[in-house]
Amino acid sequence: MSVKVAHYLQQHLRGEVMTSRDALKYFSTDGSVFEQMPAVIVYPRNTADVRKSCRFVWQLAEKGHIVPITARGKGTDQAGAALGKGIIMVFPAHMNKILEIDKNSATVQPGLIYAKLEQTLHTHGRFLPPYPSSIEFSTLGGAVANNAAGEKTVKYGQTREFVKSLNVVLANGELISTKRLTAKQLAKKRELTTFEGEIYRSLDDLISENWGLINEKQNKKVSKNSSGYDLIDVKRSDGSFDLTPLIVGSQGTLGVVTQINLKTVPYNPKTSLIAAFFDDVHKFEGAVSELLGTEPSALEVVDDNLLEFVKKHNPNQLKGIIDEKIPKLVLLVEYDNASDRVRSKKTKQAKKILNRYSYEYQVTSDIDEQEQLWKIRHSAAAVIWQVVGKAKAVPIIEDGVVPRERFIDYLNGVYALYNKYKLDAAVWGHAGDSNLHMQPFLDLSNPEDRKKVFKIADDYYRMVLEMGGSTSGEHNDGRLRAPYLPFVYGKEMYALFRRVKNIFDPYGIMNPGVKIDVRQSEIAGMLRQEYSMEHLYDHMPRS
Ligand SMILES: Cc1cc2nc3c(=O)[nH]c(=O)nc-3n(C[C@H](O)[C@H](O)[C@H](O)COP(=O)(O)OP(=O)(O)OC[C@H]3O[C@@H](n4cnc5c(N)ncnc54)[C@H](O)[C@@H]3O)c2cc1C
Repeated sequence: MSVKVAHYLQQHLRGEVMTSRDALKYFSTDGSVFEQMPAVIVYPRNTADVRKSCRFVWQLAEKGHIVPITARGKGTDQAGAALGKGIIMVFPAHMNKILEIDKNSATVQPGLIYAKLEQTLHTHGRFLPPYPSSIEFSTLGGAVANNAAGEKTVKYGQTREFVKSLNVVLANGELISTKRLTAKQLAKKRELTTFEGEIYRSLDDLISENWGLINEKQNKKVSKNSSGYDLIDVKRSDGSFDLTPLIVGSQGTLGVVTQINLKTVPYNPKTSLIAAFFDDVHKFEGAVSELLGTEPSALEVVDDNLLEFVKKHNPNQLKGIIDEKIPKLVLLVEYDNASDRVRSKKTKQAKKILNRYSYEYQVTSDIDEQEQLWKIRHSAAAVIWQVVGKAKAVPIIEDGVVPRERFIDYLNGVYALYNKYKLDAAVWGHAGDSNLHMQPFLDLSNPEDRKKVFKIADDYYRMVLEMGGSTSGEHNDGRLRAPYLPFVYGKEMYALFRRVKNIFDPYGIMNPGVKIDVRQSEIAGMLRQEYSMEHLYDHMPRS
């Protein structure tokens, strides 16, 4: 079947279609611990290529042959959502352009590298705040599909809040444009006899009939969340309706995004940065609670284990920043307000707070000195890229988020978990959101370590949920966290998610095996023998 599919696509698409062993192998891994060999790689040149591929696959599905389509950016996904056994549709090769930048928005193709957009926006005095720390090597399509977030999210929010409209190719190849519609415009959409009309009718009915449940199951206790399908923001009390927030965060399981229109905000490169050092988690927690009231543009944390790790493996990295005493926790507090007066006022407020809680802090407005201080937070990369013996830091419990007031319980719970499995802990992340990152060192070629993977994951996700949290603050469900989704939202809400998936994708073509109907036994069989990010080395035809 894959030979036939490739042959048809080669005949009909402008972009390249590959089935070479090298290409298939390259796209058989992403940033996760899983692997899956695809059948065909497609590098679409334009929206017509995407539409033709989807339409062809839909026609095959009507005849009973299912060939999945997985859209892919740079494949940095940490939960296995950029893998698939059918067609991998790779966007960064050709559909990677900035189409338009105007006063307060940008229109881009999904394969654009995030950092390229950000650099261009800076020259216009604007920026897109929810950039992930993988900004240099991930795409806007991936960020939209994952509802990505980062260090600025504490002030500005997640990707969803910045997506104004999308062009989406539906499972049957129809192209739709999403944006907020008035009640009158929605009524018109409902009258359409196309697949788009069917989607609007079914989804509008589903949301109206289940509004109480959707509202009740919304996790209002956490400040960020990338788990599940976002149904709460689709229909508003004024009757307006927008598919955009639902497509954002849906990981290519509802359609393929071919164009993105984003809101941008003013960029101020003049910031004030404070690095504060704590010897006690309670004092740290007290400081974070009060500092949140000053509306910082970043509130980031690293723990002593991470600093010890960096000192051991990369001794020069923190030289002159942290030398003698290793603090229990370091907090980075940033203010990016455009007005010098406001920034200075907020910095003063922060110093007052820190005088009561931290044993030492450094404040600077100087860009070079700030770069030095940011190294403390960015040293997390040392863990991610380091090899310890045969073990590597594996992303299996890397993104849980809990209610703000549970921060200390969360931190202690993580330490207890690492202790239980006799692993060295290291924690970093977004203190302002209680969204912590961590990656235990495991050797996936070792049967004992392999057995631990899902035990650690089960313990961790149970703990996060018991605290009223969510399994993913920003990296999304993918394959890894999909089996926990019924526990995150409850059975009834999960049944709604399943119906949403079925409305958009009745044949199960759009990135199946991600988010919905995923069993742990299934993904256990996909566990890699060796974890690496080799796939990040390029395998792209040139435009
Ligand atoms: C070192 C490291 C640090 C990271 N830090 C962060 C962080 O700070 N915050 C964060 O949120 N994430 C982070 N991530 C996870 C990941 O990098 C981001 O979520 C990123 O936005 C994914 O982009 P990508 O281009 O690699 O997408 P991919 O991995 O290629 O794809 C991700 C998902 O998007 C879907 N997708 C891609 N393109 C399309 C499209 N055109 N239409 C529909 N669906 C599409 C894919 O099917 C998949 O489900 C990190 C990952 C690594 C390895």
